[in-house]
Amino acid sequence: MKKYKHLFFDLDETLWDYKANAVDTLIELFEKFELGTKGDLTSDDFVAEFFRTNGELWGKFDKRQIEKDQIRRERFPLIFERLGVDAHEIVDSMQKCFIHESPKKPKLIDYAAEILQALLKHYNMHIITNGFEEIQATKLKYSGLDIYFQEVITSERAHAQKPDPEIFLFALKTVNAKASESVMIGDNLVTDIQGARNVGMEQIFFNPCKITHDLDVTHEINHLFELSGILLNV
Ligand SMILES: [Mg+2]
Repeated sequence: MKKYKHLFFDLDETLWDYKANAVDTLIELFEKFELGTKGDLTSDDFVAEFFRTNGELWGKFDKRQIEKDQIRRERFPLIFERLGVDAHEIVDSMQKCFIHESPKKPKLIDYAAEILQALLKHYNMHIITNGFEEIQATKLKYSGLDIYFQEVITSERAHAQKPDPEIFLFALKTVNAKASESVMIGDNLVTDIQGARNVGMEQIFFNPCKITHDLDVTHEINHLFELSGILLNV
C-alpha cells in the first residue's frame, strides 16, 4: 500500500533551477546596463559576486537576522561596492529588472518535469515555499510547473516561513492532510527537512551536491530520478 497521499515540494533549487535562471538573467542585465564599460568588470565577476552576496543575505534571512525586503534593497548596492564599481545610478532599476525578469525564466532542475508527470496520477501534490505569492506564481506559470500542483503555500500566504511549524501546519490544514500521510521533498536541511520533521512529517532530502550532515532524514536522494524508487516502487 502506498505510504503517502500528499507530496509537498519545495520550489527553488528543488524543482525550479534558481541558479541557472539567475545566471541567464544576470548576463542579460550585464549587457542591458552595459556593465562591461565600467572598469574591467566581466560578466563572470558579476555573476560570481551576485551569488556570493545573495547567498550571504539569504543565509541571514534564514536565520531571521534580516527581512526579505532587505535582500532586495541591499544586494545590488553591496555587489557593486564589493566589486569596486560605481553603479549607484543604476542599482534601483537593475534590482527591478532582476525581480521582474528572473521569475519568467523557465529552467528546471534535471528530471523535474518528468518525475512530476509520473507522480501526478498517484498523489496529491503541493508546494511549500518561502517566497512572495506573485513571484512564485510567475515561476510556476512560465516554467510550466503550475499544472502539477493543487495548492501553492507561500510564506507570504501562510504568514510564516519554513522552518516555522506554522507554515507546515497551515499547508496540512489547507489541503486537509495529516502529517502522517505526507512527505516533504526539499533541498534545504534546515528549512525543508528539519521544518517538516518538527511537525511529524517524513522527509526526502534532495542533496545534489552531496553535502555531509548528521541529521536523521527519512530518505535522501542526489538526483530527482531517485524519487521514482521511493514513490513509485520501481
Ligand atoms: Mg530550495
